Amino acid sequence: MLNVGLTGGIATGKSTVARILVGKGALLIDFDELSHDVEQPEGPVWQEIVRHFGEEILHDDRTINRRKLGDIVFADREKLGLLNRIVHPAVFKEWHRRIEEIRKVQPDAIVLSDIPLLIEAGMKPMVDLVLLVYLSPEEQIARLVARNGYRREDAEKRIASQTPIGEKLPFADIVVHNDGSPETTRIAVGEVWEELKNRERSRRENTG
Ligand code: ADP
Repeated sequence: MLNVGLTGGIATGKSTVARILVGKGALLIDFDELSHDVEQPEGPVWQEIVRHFGEEILHDDRTINRRKLGDIVFADREKLGLLNRIVHPAVFKEWHRRIEEIRKVQPDAIVLSDIPLLIEAGMKPMVDLVLLVYLSPEEQIARLVARNGYRREDAEKRIASQTPIGEKLPFADIVVHNDGSPETTRIAVGEVWEELKNRERSRRENTG
């Protein structure tokens, strides 16, 4: 098995690359989805969140209103820290559980975990390999405007609030440059897939 961490910046093309790799046979674990899963109503994480942030962050159906909670924590670093301390251990535990389950049933799997903040969160040691989707900041702004309908200045602000993508490059084992056409990326990702299969095979052979 190969445990690949997929990362990049906002709108650099992580989902696009993930989709191509899944089409070739990779298994995808989406961290955003994991955090939704561990916050199911009445579960332990949900209870802790409600205990600290109150019922006013709930929708009528008692699921967490992530926009409301986001507005609270992104305006207050301490609250963000508190929320992360509640949610992260459960997410890691669930991630680990899924990886080990896959390892059992499909020992030659290539598992792709889409983790936007992999490098910022110091998670490089938790994956076998970091796959970074790179896009120049100028093109990143253009794609964010096109995809989310943001005004240019809002897109710039979003990007400025994140670690510059260039600073992540030294942490990557494999880089996909997504500045070109979708077809160019598709071809590049096809080559990455061959590389991942080779690495998975040699890893399995070496660890016996
Ligand atoms: P992320 O998952 O990193 O936020 P996406 O994969 O959603 O990024 O890509 C951001 C936007 O850019 C999407 O609208 C996507 O369709 C578009 N996109 C991705 N790759 C290319 C490309 N090579 N050329 C043009 N547009 C692209």
